[in-house]
Amino acid sequence: MIVDERMVAFINSFDKGNTPFLDNLEREALAAEVPIIRKETQRLMKFLLTVHRPAEILEVGAAIGFSALFMSQYGPEGCHITTIEKYEKRISLARENFKRAGRQQQITLLAGDAVDILKELKGSYDLIFMDAAKGQYIHFLPDILRLLSEGGLLVSDNVLQDGDVVESRFAVTRRNRTIHARMREYLYELTHHPRLETCILPVGDGVTLSVKI
Ligand code: SAH
Ligand code: MG
Repeated sequence: MIVDERMVAFINSFDKGNTPFLDNLEREALAAEVPIIRKETQRLMKFLLTVHRPAEILEVGAAIGFSALFMSQYGPEGCHITTIEKYEKRISLARENFKRAGRQQQITLLAGDAVDILKELKGSYDLIFMDAAKGQYIHFLPDILRLLSEGGLLVSDNVLQDGDVVESRFAVTRRNRTIHARMREYLYELTHHPRLETCILPVGDGVTLSVKI
């Protein structure tokens, strides 16, 4: 946890919850140890969806579909979500959950590796939610920028790597070092790219908000 636990508990105590379907799916995901967006990040996302009203949404990293369903619930009426997932077991669970929620028309799941899918993808997205393997964000960025509409919002989750990102590279375990280096590079790119205005927020596991200018 990157923010003081009491502070997080305090902030979350104001949470009014989501729909019964989403609350139930969240419980299922947490019980099965599927990583889904945290409460604080959900609140931020709900706010952004309300302010920005994105018609076309792209998500990288569907897991079992919680955040995609969340966005379909709290995005503007008629919004469409395209989400990418590569892990076979999660793909079938996500599909099942979209069906259970009656939202198969509103959400398109692209099964496969985002490395390949993003290259082929066309169109223009008003909001892109980056929530896949942290070490790959930097590689996805050129395609993400191409796919993001002008004035579009890029939201990236888990950018503070559970706090590891601020440590010296020697203080993080060997297996996390590559992610550490790549995440710092990603944060640098987002904050210095001429087409982006970015802020880094210590919300949940760290979130960046970037708008394409
Ligand atoms: N957005 C989800 C959680 C996603 S967890 C939610 O909040 O409900 C991250 C997911 O990204 C995992 O299921 C993982 O399998 C997937 N993933 C990681 N790298 C990927 C890649 N290169 N292509 C597609 N999916 C990827
Ligand atoms: Mg995440």
